[in-house]
Amino acid sequence: MTALEINSLDVRHGQLKAVRSISFSIEKGEVVALIGANGAGKTTLLRAIAGAHKLTSGSILLKGIDITDLAAHQRVAAGLALVPEGRKLFTDMTTQENLQLGATVSRAGGWSVDKIFEIFPNLQRHRHAKTGNMSGGEQQATAIGRALMSNPEVLILDEVSLGLSPLVVDQVYASLATLIQTGTTIILVEQDLSRAMKVASRAICMLEGEIVLDKKMSEVSREQITDAYFGLAKIKNIAVEQ
Ligand code: ATP
Repeated sequence: MTALEINSLDVRHGQLKAVRSISFSIEKGEVVALIGANGAGKTTLLRAIAGAHKLTSGSILLKGIDITDLAAHQRVAAGLALVPEGRKLFTDMTTQENLQLGATVSRAGGWSVDKIFEIFPNLQRHRHAKTGNMSGGEQQATAIGRALMSNPEVLILDEVSLGLSPLVVDQVYASLATLIQTGTTIILVEQDLSRAMKVASRAICMLEGEIVLDKKMSEVSREQITDAYFGLAKIKNIAVEQ
């Protein structure tokens, strides 16, 4: 079943076309790594899908339902949750309170505060601690948990590793692996290619606002992804054609 369908999406920042004519669809349970250099348009694309940035043109369907004209909070209610770069927690509130905020859209589903603590066991002891006093990894886990509390059909994670130590990133990814086993559909941005290749079932590479590679992880090599990342695939193709 198709979880998310993106058709001919164009997104601008003023005159700059940051996302150009992007189309793809994601099946339920797929884990898609969105890969690309700084400025490739990944964050802009994710924010546009979540309704945080206006589209210039195109359409977005969630489980076959057109959500293009819905506001961001209505998209959450429809089943789309974004964990933004930088987490954006309420740092004066406790872990439990932040998690409960995620449930305010009251979509039906299996996630609860206790279930979040099952997949992020390190959070349990910080249940009543203000998130502002917690480590980066614990804050990231709380942000992911808060998104899960809306029982999303599709979870979008923008650079979950940003600013975290390698050890903490390992912990966050260990928890993500548990989450993936539950069959959650995920789009994630990850700068560490080895990690992305390990966790995701599919790679979509962006270059200058466009998709330059879209393949199953099992059918793509590291070299093909790095070529796409640096724009070398295009150059090599031109050379072959000549
Ligand atoms: P990064 O990994 O650095 O976050 P990215 O792939 O997520 O990169 P975007 O942040 O989506 O890329 O940026 C795409 C393009 O849009 C870049 O050229 C960037 O400079 C530009 N851009 C991003 N945000 C804004 C903004 N608020 N105003 C103007 N231009 C922007």
